[in-house]
Formats: sequence, structure tokens, C-alpha cells
Amino acid sequence: MQTIDNFNFKGQKVFIRVDFNVPLDEKFNITDDTRIRAAIPTLKKILGDGGSVIIGSHLGRPKGVDSKYSLLHILPRISELLGIPVDFANDCLGQEAVEKSAALQAGQALLLENLRFYAAEEGKPRGLADDASDEEKAAAKKAEKANQKAMAKQLASYATVYVNDAFGTAHRAHASTAIIADYFDADHKLFGYLMQNEIDAVERVLKNTARPFTAIMGGSKVSSKIDIIENLLTKVDNLIIAGGMTYTFTKAMGGKIGNSICEDDKLDLALSLIQKAKDNGVNLVLAVDAKIADQFSNDANTQFVAVDAIPDGWEGLDIGPETEKIFADVIENSKTILWNGPTGVFEFDNFAGGSYAVGKAIVRATQKGAFSLVGGGDSVACVNKFGIADQMSYVSTGGGALLEFIEGKELPGIKAIRGY
Ligand code: AMP
Repeated sequence: MQTIDNFNFKGQKVFIRVDFNVPLDEKFNITDDTRIRAAIPTLKKILGDGGSVIIGSHLGRPKGVDSKYSLLHILPRISELLGIPVDFANDCLGQEAVEKSAALQAGQALLLENLRFYAAEEGKPRGLADDASDEEKAAAKKAEKANQKAMAKQLASYATVYVNDAFGTAHRAHASTAIIADYFDADHKLFGYLMQNEIDAVERVLKNTARPFTAIMGGSKVSSKIDIIENLLTKVDNLIIAGGMTYTFTKAMGGKIGNSICEDDKLDLALSLIQKAKDNGVNLVLAVDAKIADQFSNDANTQFVAVDAIPDGWEGLDIGPETEKIFADVIENSKTILWNGPTGVFEFDNFAGGSYAVGKAIVRATQKGAFSLVGGGDSVACVNKFGIADQMSYVSTGGGALLEFIEGKELPGIKAIRGY
């Protein structure tokens, strides 16, 4: 397989799929350009070698052509970060895209309009009537799959090399993220730096694991994390359960949780996960105390109590000091650490202490040589809020893609290039 470092792009025309799905305010200003910055090293490498780039991305979830989701909004920022003027094609499939990509010279860049203006990108039919029959739905699905292939073929025709640097969409089998790779031979398709770094980080954690390996799973609900927890129970030495899902476990074990968040239909599941941890010899670490509040507010009255003795009218919004110590001790004695999800409602400063303590323990472990991977939405927001992102070994840019990767699923965007 080709690697970006070893590939010389001189004279090559590269279709690069990036994830420039950045948040915009109501005036279409970019409020966080992290995703654009993340792909710049790959773009600069290609251009620096003397290649040219045709950049494809989605933005938002348009239902068709919609100026609100036009990539024109982000064109100036891309030019600024790349340090060269970037041209724009108003339609990713039309004549303009064909002509402009054909005319590209070494060192030049072209941005295509939002790939998701076409349903074919996702390969899912749009606008089907609610009362469509099963046959109609199946026919529409088949037609859209054919359109998807045609779109992938057309995008591929612009270029001599395909580079995928869109880890955020690696779990989707879309025209530009996976199907397009079929139109390039093994020597002309490769991962960009971001994609390679993400894959390396996850594989270092899950495959080449230095032990002890500790995963910290937080967040609000156990139901959204079942598959990950089950996969991790076959891999980790310690599994720390934190955040809102704590209380489903506490209640399942007979504790009193007051008004804390709880999924009553997942009590049996919690018990089965506890049993599975025992069967697999995994040290399951649960909170022993909680910081409770008399309302869901930063200004609520608070107290610290045992996690299984929360009075009615109160709810656990973070871990308590005893739990902080227990978690920190496990974390600091680990060699591999995966953190997904806060220990409490970290958006409220008064309930961010537990997440901060976990973050600082990970920093200390990392300083002692552990490999720490942080990812999946809110834990990234946490490390950013606490200003400790640069003290982690790796902070993932992927949300759903990272979670599916950790669940042990094959990601279409990765498989399309390396075959697994
Ligand atoms: P998730 O998206 O599942 O990772 O959940 C993250 C969210 O869980 C954050 O917005 C937290 O505020 C929330 N959360 C964490 N702990 C609690 C808790 N004890 N009660 C309610 N929400 C919580």
C-alpha cells in the first residue's frame, strides 16, 4: 500500500476527499476551523511535491442544492490556510468541474461544490413519498445505488490519484469516501496524514496495546455505548464507567439514585455487563460517591453523597472526591488510556470537576509514558475546555467514525483503500 510520506505527487492530479463540515454561524462565518486545519498538511504535501488538488467535501445535511450549505462560504478560509488562491466549481459533477479540473496546473487547487447536493453521494433516495410501497422503495434504492456508482466514476475521472483524508466520514460508504476508490489501482489510492494518524492511534490502542489498558467511558446514556463497552470488555484491563450512565448501573445493583438520569430498560443490560467484566477478568471501576444537585442547573444547591444513597429530589451531576481519587489512581497506573465521554455535566462549571480530575490524571499518565487517545464528541470538548488537548497523545477528529472503529467495525472509507 502507498503511504503519503513515500508518495511523490509530482505531475499528479489528486482528488482528495476531506471533511470540511465545519460549524457556521447565521452569517456563514466559520466558528471552528479545526477540520480545515486538520487536512492542510496533506494538501500542502501534494501541492509542495508539484501535484494539483481537486478538493471534495460535504457541508451539513442538504436535501438538494441549497446555498445555505454551499462550500463557497468556506473557500476564503481554505485559501488563507493554504496560502494560495483556490478556484471553485459551482457544481461537483457539471461541465465546469470537468473543465476546471482538466485545466489544473501543478501547485493549483480547485474546490468542488458540496458533494451532498447530490443524493448519489450518500446513495440513498431522497423525496420518496411517505406512502411509497416496498417495491417502489426498493426500486428507488437500486436506482440511487447506480447513480452513486456513476457519481464515483465521474469524480474519479478528474484525477490520477485518490487520497482520502476524511476520517469523520470513514464510517460511510459514500461515492466520494469509498466507492470512488474502485476506480484507482492499489498504487494510486492512499490515506492522507490525518486519516493515517487516526488509524495509527486507534490501532495502537486496540491492537498493539501496552498494558495495563484503561478505558474511561462517560456520557449520558449506556444505550449509546453498549457496542463499544462490549468490545472493550474483551480488550481492556480496567473499564471505568462514569457520567450519567453510572446511575443505571447503581440502580441495577439496588442503589437509591433519586432523580438521577437512568435508563430503566437497561438495568438487566447493566447487570450483564458487570457479569461479563467478571467473566473476562476486567476490573470494572464504578463511582462510589457523587456530587448531587437539587436541580439541573449550574447554580443548584449541591452536596456530596454515596452514589447509592441519593435522596429523592436530588440528582447526580458529577462524581465525588472519593471517586476522583479512585479513578485517578487507576488511570495513573495505566500504559494505554482511551477516554470517551465526561464524568458529569461538564458544560456547567460547578459539575466539571470530575472530568477535569480525569483529564489531569490522563495528562500525568501521558507524561509518564502512557499512550492516551481521546475521542468521540464531548470528551474532545472537555479537553479543549480545560486547555489540556495538547497534553494528550492523540485527540481524534472523528465522532461516529471513531466510535464505530473502537466497536471493532470495518470502516468503508478505510477498507476501500487498504482492503480491510
Ligand atoms: P454523550 O453524548 O453520550 O457522550 O453524553 C455527553 C453528555 O452527557 C454531556 O452533555 C454531559 O452533560 C452529559 N452528562 C454527563 N453526566 C451526566 C449526568 N450525571 N446527568 C446528566 N447528563 C450527564
